[in-house]
This record gives sequence, C-alpha cells and structure tokens, in this order.
Amino acid sequence: MVTSIELEAQLDQVGQDAHRLRFRDPALAVQLCLDIINQAEEFENASRSLKNQTGRLKLQLSSLYIRLIAYDRALSEALEAYTIYEEIDLSSGVARSFNALGLANVHLGTYAEALEHLLNALRFATEMEDDSLRATVLNNLGLLYIRMEEYQQALEYLTKSLELASSLQNKEIEADLLENICVAYLNLGKFNDALAHSQRGIVLYQRSQNRFGEANALSTAGEVYAAMGHTIEALRYFQRSLQICQEIDFVQGTANAHLLIGNIELQSGDLDNALRHMVQAIEDAEKGQDTNLIFRAHYHLSNIYRQMENYQMALSHYEKFHQIKESVFNEDMTTKIRSLEIMHRVRETQQDSEIYRLRNVELTREIEERKKAQSKLERIATLDPLTGLLNRRHFFELTQQELDRSRRYDRPLSVIMMDIDHFKQVNDHFGHLVGDRVIVEVARRIQKALRRIDQACRYGGEEFAILLPETTLTQAEMVGTRLWQLVSRQPTVSGELKLKITVSVGVATYHQEGIIAVDTLLDRADKAMYYGKQHGRNRVVIYNQMMNGTGSLNDL
Ligand code: GH3
Ligand code: MG
Ligand code: MG
Repeated sequence: MVTSIELEAQLDQVGQDAHRLRFRDPALAVQLCLDIINQAEEFENASRSLKNQTGRLKLQLSSLYIRLIAYDRALSEALEAYTIYEEIDLSSGVARSFNALGLANVHLGTYAEALEHLLNALRFATEMEDDSLRATVLNNLGLLYIRMEEYQQALEYLTKSLELASSLQNKEIEADLLENICVAYLNLGKFNDALAHSQRGIVLYQRSQNRFGEANALSTAGEVYAAMGHTIEALRYFQRSLQICQEIDFVQGTANAHLLIGNIELQSGDLDNALRHMVQAIEDAEKGQDTNLIFRAHYHLSNIYRQMENYQMALSHYEKFHQIKESVFNEDMTTKIRSLEIMHRVRETQQDSEIYRLRNVELTREIEERKKAQSKLERIATLDPLTGLLNRRHFFELTQQELDRSRRYDRPLSVIMMDIDHFKQVNDHFGHLVGDRVIVEVARRIQKALRRIDQACRYGGEEFAILLPETTLTQAEMVGTRLWQLVSRQPTVSGELKLKITVSVGVATYHQEGIIAVDTLLDRADKAMYYGKQHGRNRVVIYNQMMNGTGSLNDL
C-alpha cells in the first residue's frame, strides 16, 4: 500500500515524464497519466497536496488530448481539474483550469463559452499577477479570435502576449505566438509580416526541438507562399513539413501536408500527382481520425476526378464528403450541448465559491469585448448557412414584430410560402450537390427580387417564406407571381447542367383582424401553397377561407 507522500512523488514524476514526451509520443504520455491518476483517485482521504498534484496532471492530460485532437476529452479533463481546484480552493489552479476549458472550447468551435472561460482565466491571472499565465491566456484569446475570423482583434491579443512572453524569456509560448501571429497576418493579406513572424517561429521551434510545432509552422509558411503565388517555395515548405511529420509519425500532419501539396499540384494542372497526394491525405487522415481533414480531402478528390472527367468517382467522393460533413455537423451539436452543460456546472460550482468573489479587473473592457463577440455570434445565428437567408427561428421573431406593428398602426402585412416542386427528383437524379446548388440559386433569385424591407427565410429544406410588410393582398399576389416567374420561367443553372424547376407559391395577408398568431398567418400561406400542390403545382394561390378546415377544396 503506497502512502500519500509516495503517490505524490509518483504523480510528480509522471508529470515530468509526460512533459518530456508531449511532442514525441503524446499517446504514451496520456497512458502514463491515466494510470497514475486512477491510483490517486482510489486513494481515500487524499490530502490537499495530493489533490493539487492530481489536478495538475489532469490539466496536462487536457493539453495532451488537444494535441491528439480529442477535444471533448480535453474538455472533460479540464472540467475535472476545475472541480478539484474549486474544492481545495486554489486560485492558481482554478485560473489554469479556466484557461484549459477555454482552449478546449476554442477547438470545439463553441466560441461563446470559450470566450467566457478565457476571460475568467485572464481575470484571475491579472489578479494574481501571474504574467506567464497571462501570456498563455492572451495567446489562446488570440487563437479564439483567429477562429472567429476577427484577425485584427486577434493581433491585439497576440502582440500583447508576445511582449509578455519575450520579457519573461518564455520561448515555448513565444514560438506558438509567432505561429498564431503569422496566421493572422496571412488572413489579413499582410504576407511579408506573416513571413517575418513565421521565420522567427520556425527557428524557435527548432531550438526547442519541438518538431511538432516546427512541422506546423513550416506548413503555415508554405501557405503564405502559396497565397503570394510562389508555388515552388510553397511546395518546398510543404515537403519539409511532410518530412518532419513522417519522422515523428504525426499522421494528422502528414495528411494536412499531402492535402496542401495535392492542392498545389491541382492548381498547376498536374492531376496525377494531385490525385496521389489527395489519396494519401485521406488515408493518413483516417488513421489519425481527423474528420475535418477527411471530408476536406474527399471534397478536393471529387474536384480532381471531375477535372479528369471521371464523373463516377467525382460523385462518389462528393457523396462521402457530404455524408461526413453532415455527421460532423451532428457531432458538433452534441459537443456544443456538452460544452454548455459544462459551462452550467462551472457556474453552479462558482456560486458557492469564495474565489469567485474576487474583484473584477479589466471588467469594463472585457464586457465591451464580449459584446462584440456576442453580436458576431448572434449575427451568425440568425442566418441559414447554405443560402444566407434568415433562418426559421429568426424569421418567426421578425414576423412577430411585424404582426404587432401592423396591428398597432393598422397596416397591411403579407406573407408568401414557396416550395420547390418535385425536388426529391432533383436529388435523386443529380445528387445532393446539385440539389443544394438549386436551393442556393432559388434563394438568390428571391433575394434579388425583393425590396429592402422584405425578409426572406429558408423555412425548411427547399421551402422558403417571405415577409412583406406594408403590402396588401393584391400587391402580395403580384410579388408572388413575379417570384414564381423568376424561379420557374428561367432554367436554373448548376455547373454545366441546365435544370428547369418549378415552384408552388402560397400568399396570405393580415389586415384589421385583431390578434392572430404568427403560426396562423404562416399556416394560411402554407395552406394556399399546399392547395397549389394538389392542383397541379407550378402556380400561385391566394389563401381563401375555404381552404381552412372543412371547406371542400374542389369547390374553390
Ligand atoms: P413537392 O412538389 O410535393 O414539394 O415534392 P418534393 O419532392 O419537393 O417533396 P418534399 O417537399 O416533401 O421533399 C423535399 C425534399 O427535399 C426532401 C429532401 O430530400 C430534399 N431536401 C430537403 N432539404 C434539402 C437540402 O438542404 N439539400 C438538398 N439537396 N435536398 C434537400
Ligand atoms: Mg417540394
Ligand atoms: Mg418541401
């Protein structure tokens, strides 16, 4: 039976071993940590310092999982560390846990939660005057803003962090920072700045023998050269990155390098080589279980085969791409929900925690930053990703507002529902890709035909709803007819295909009726449309009382 002291010493030793192994063999490092953590957790009446050691190891595990792209595990470990540190009331541990929670959320794409955790971490780090942690947190905030495509804001955090890291002589984080700064400049189109930082980053990674970082930095540098149109230089960097990834057996890295090389070959028209690299990219990505890379590679493969005029293979890879994309989306939802649950648990724990009552430093500024990020998130959340039209939820809100306004000021308001006819056949004959393009094209035509105050929404798969404020029934019928003509009378173009598609349109109006529900109004337009479907499709139908309930449709 080991004593608490012995176990602590072992945890400490494993921590050091895992640290040494973190680039060379993260999977082995994980295994070592898990074994010893199990023992520590079975230990009854663990002392405060044993718990502290356990928490530290869990945080190490969290960052190892990030390296292994097992982000949800990274999140769980961070949460467990957080719980331990709250229990033993150790603010430095809480701060580091917030940082780890934030970083995992950045990788999971749950940005609002990431921001909240990272700002918490920043607040603690500032309180404790822990500059090294501050530098780390600021770096992660920079990464978050890069993911949110707010590169200017990202640079602000990153340069602040770089100042701190250089004054602390912390080379490890400095290298990561230079890499992130390079990515931000690349996206801002400032290629020379990007290259300058990237070169310094590569040197630092080499000096610290972080080959993992070096490989990543080389491939980013290659991307900068590619963006500048220097293909030969780009290829040289991708090849160097590939070589390192092969040496350290970093399959996600080799997959990424093959994908980038394949793309360059594709652009220069060398289809055979492009194909070879892209196939290898998929193989490696599958080995590394990097779904994101897998579906990107399928997408590119589909393009390559199309250019080779091998449509059979092009289609098959496109379908795989689509399938995986959809499953990723579902998975995304699950992880998002999970991360919200974790946020909730963190809040609950915080409520009875002493530490949480620390004064809020930098709070005003943070709130401003939070608001900015929030408004970006909200904007994203109001649109349908495929078409850029409003999503259904947001459309309901707007319709509610307009309905209230119409009633208050006694103004007319109309809605239109439109559904593509026999759309299943488009999918069945031409595949989902073409189906998606048709949906996008119909959305574009609707958008083009409307006034600024009208609002168009993707109501369902291939169904659209349009809100027409200040519009009477007669006017709405004209709009409906115009939309119907625009969509049905011109062939919808998809690649080289010219498809003729038709739509059925339903129109309904609200005017001077007292209170009615949004659902009722939309339902009327829907009924009119459905009536059109039953009577031959490809037409515009105005809502009529008879369509409601018992009236016989055939009598109309
Ligand atoms: P109807 O004329 O009666 O409307 O016939 P329909 O074939 O259009 O039938 P329905 O509206 O019931 O089916 C719509 C089909 O649209 C079902 C689904 O496979 C397809 N679909 C829904 N959303 C999408 C999407 O986002 N992309 C693609 N490509 N197809 C979709
Ligand atoms: Mg339909
Ligand atoms: Mg439909």
